[in-house]
Amino acid sequence: MHISSAIFHCSAPDLDACPDGSLPEFAFIGRSNVGKSSLLNLLAGEAGLARVSPKPGFTKMINIFTINKNWRLVDLPGYGFAEGSKKSTRQFNKAVSAYLKHRANLSLVFTLIDSGLTPQEIDLEFIGWLAQNGVPFVLVFTKTDKITPAEVKTNITAFMAAIAPWFVQPPATFTCSANTGDGRQALLGVIEEMMTAIRAETPAEPEEKPAGPVTRKRGHDLDRPW
Ligand code: GDP
Repeated sequence: MHISSAIFHCSAPDLDACPDGSLPEFAFIGRSNVGKSSLLNLLAGEAGLARVSPKPGFTKMINIFTINKNWRLVDLPGYGFAEGSKKSTRQFNKAVSAYLKHRANLSLVFTLIDSGLTPQEIDLEFIGWLAQNGVPFVLVFTKTDKITPAEVKTNITAFMAAIAPWFVQPPATFTCSANTGDGRQALLGVIEEMMTAIRAETPAEPEEKPAGPVTRKRGHDLDRPW
C-alpha cells in the first residue's frame, strides 16, 4: 500500500468525541516507550503524520488521522504511563476501553510489544482484556534491531506461551523495526487486505445517497485475510 496522504483529523478525549463512523479504523496501542510514535511515522512514510502533538495532554487523547482519504489511523494513548494524576489515568483508561469495546467501525487493533523484553505483566493483562472483550487484534513486536534474531524469537515464543491459554487460535504476530523499516510492508499489507475484504462486504451505496456509517467492520466479522 502506498500512503499518499495522512491528515490529522482530531484528538478525541472520549468515544463520544470521535468522528462519524464512515471510515474503517485501524488502531495502534502499546505501553509508553514501546516505539509506537516511531512505528506510526514509519508507516506514514513520506506523507508523515501531519502533526506532532503540541501539548503533553495530547498523548492521552485518541488521536485520529485520515489516510489516503479512505481509512483512519487511530493512535491510542499508551497504557501504563507514569505521569498524570490517578484521576486522569482512570478517565483515560475508560475512554480507551470504551473505544475498543464499542467503536463499530474499528477494524483491527495493532498491539505493540517490545521484542527486547521478556513477557511483561502489563502487556499480558492488556492482551487478556482484549481477548475477554472480543476485540480484534494482532501483535506487533517492535524494535527487533536492538537484539539478535534468536533473542527476538525467544521473547516472542515466551510471550505466545503466556497468552496461549486464552485463545483457541492465537493472534497473528508481526515484527517491526522503525530503524531498519522491517515490517512496514507487512503491516500495511494487513490493512490493505482488510480494506479489500471490507469493501467486498459493504454493498455499494447509490451515488446520490450520502455514505452512511460503516456497520460491519470489526475484524472478527471477517475471515482473516492475511
Ligand atoms: P512511544 O512512547 O511508544 O511513542 O515510543 P517512541 O517511538 O517515542 O520510541 C521510544 C524510544 O525507543 C525512542 O528512544 C526511540 O528512538 C526508540 N525506538 C523506537 N523504535 C525503535 C526501533 O525500532 N529500534 C530501536 N533501536 N529503537 C527504537
